Amino acid sequence: MMSLLEFYVNLRKEIFAVIGGVEDSGYSFRWDNTTPNWITKSKLKTVFEKLINHSANFGVYIINRHSDCGNPKHDQNGSDGYVMDRILENKISYRDSRFNWSDPIDQGEILCKCPCSESNLTSKHHVIQDVIFDASANLSACKNIESIIYDIYQAIQNSGNNKARSAIREYLLRAVLKINDAILPVSVDEFIEHQMVLAGLNS
Ligand SMILES: [Zn+2]
Ligand SMILES: [Zn+2]
Repeated sequence: MMSLLEFYVNLRKEIFAVIGGVEDSGYSFRWDNTTPNWITKSKLKTVFEKLINHSANFGVYIINRHSDCGNPKHDQNGSDGYVMDRILENKISYRDSRFNWSDPIDQGEILCKCPCSESNLTSKHHVIQDVIFDASANLSACKNIESIIYDIYQAIQNSGNNKARSAIREYLLRAVLKINDAILPVSVDEFIEHQMVLAGLNS
């Protein structure tokens, strides 16, 4: 299994590779040879999927919470009308105490196969993307990973056609700054504070 350091170092490389391709489109040129947003978006989606897979190794999961899909079986599990996706074939219930429940990353009406029954067909229902942490995992590491996941997700949301590329870069750079802090022995903020104390200055 990869270490947390390897995880951050690889992710940092992948994000830089995408940032390098995000240039403002050339308004004054006849041909715009900068990377179109749809390519950036698909690259970011690949980074995001990998990130979600690797985050699970450190106890951070993005998991779908399905609200009533219309199947009478849906409500039989007594978890407030919600059915959760499984984690590696393990059943979990909404607000399962084996996990810390953070804020959802997104939600909306989508077409999907609700996991409340194997025989379900696709139906349109409300799905919430929860972020949860293994209760036994290091909470501050989980929160840092969560906030990086959020930034990459926002970068994807901002990579629609005709959207300004500065927003994509801003989210990606924010993620890189968080990764830098996580890689270094102390965060830049902590370092500054320490140096100020040594210099006898108030920060
Ligand atoms: Zn259902
Ligand atoms: Zn669903």
